[in-house]
Amino acid sequence: MDSLSSVGWRGRAACVDADPELWFPVDGAPAAVAVRICRTCPVRRECIADDLAFPFPAGVRAGLDADVREPLNAAYVDYRTVVATRYEVLRRAATRANGLAVRVLADALAAEADAVAGYAVALALTVPPAEWTAARDAYTAAIAARRSAEAAAGRSAGTARIDRAWVRLLAAAHRLALITTAAPAALAVPSSLAGAA
Ligand code: SF4
Repeated sequence: MDSLSSVGWRGRAACVDADPELWFPVDGAPAAVAVRICRTCPVRRECIADDLAFPFPAGVRAGLDADVREPLNAAYVDYRTVVATRYEVLRRAATRANGLAVRVLADALAAEADAVAGYAVALALTVPPAEWTAARDAYTAAIAARRSAEAAAGRSAGTARIDRAWVRLLAAAHRLALITTAAPAALAVPSSLAGAA
């Protein structure tokens, strides 16, 4: 279900020929050189997406220290866990009445979860506006597809737990953006989080 991570991007990484120890300073010193290199890297999004899928509690990824990444990673694990639970419920239900429509609904929920994750990554890294908008549009389209599948299946894909985990994930991504962006005052709260606790 988790299609966020792939390995083809690694060959394009700015660190591909660099000394790995720069990303893992042994004496706990700031990894300033690694952070600078990461900021020039063309695959930062893929890198942090990989860290979400396979979290590693040390070193620098995508220009972010492990302790800074940890809240986003934790929120992501929680979100994917509750979505996966609901996905399995729907897949089991698909063996009974209205099976095809419910299976389509389960897949729509999974696709939406991938789009939410892509949106969270774009938000966390404060990518250029065009990329951020594309990620948000993909997410919006995925929601529309899920709602359409819900209508066809005659049941809801979501739960209150999924909604809470979704808010926590996007809120964590937004907090990360506030930490890392050069101009936090210019970073508006996404409309998707408006009113969220
Ligand atoms: S963002 Fe940084 S750690 Fe990630 S692949 Fe690029 S240079 Fe390497």
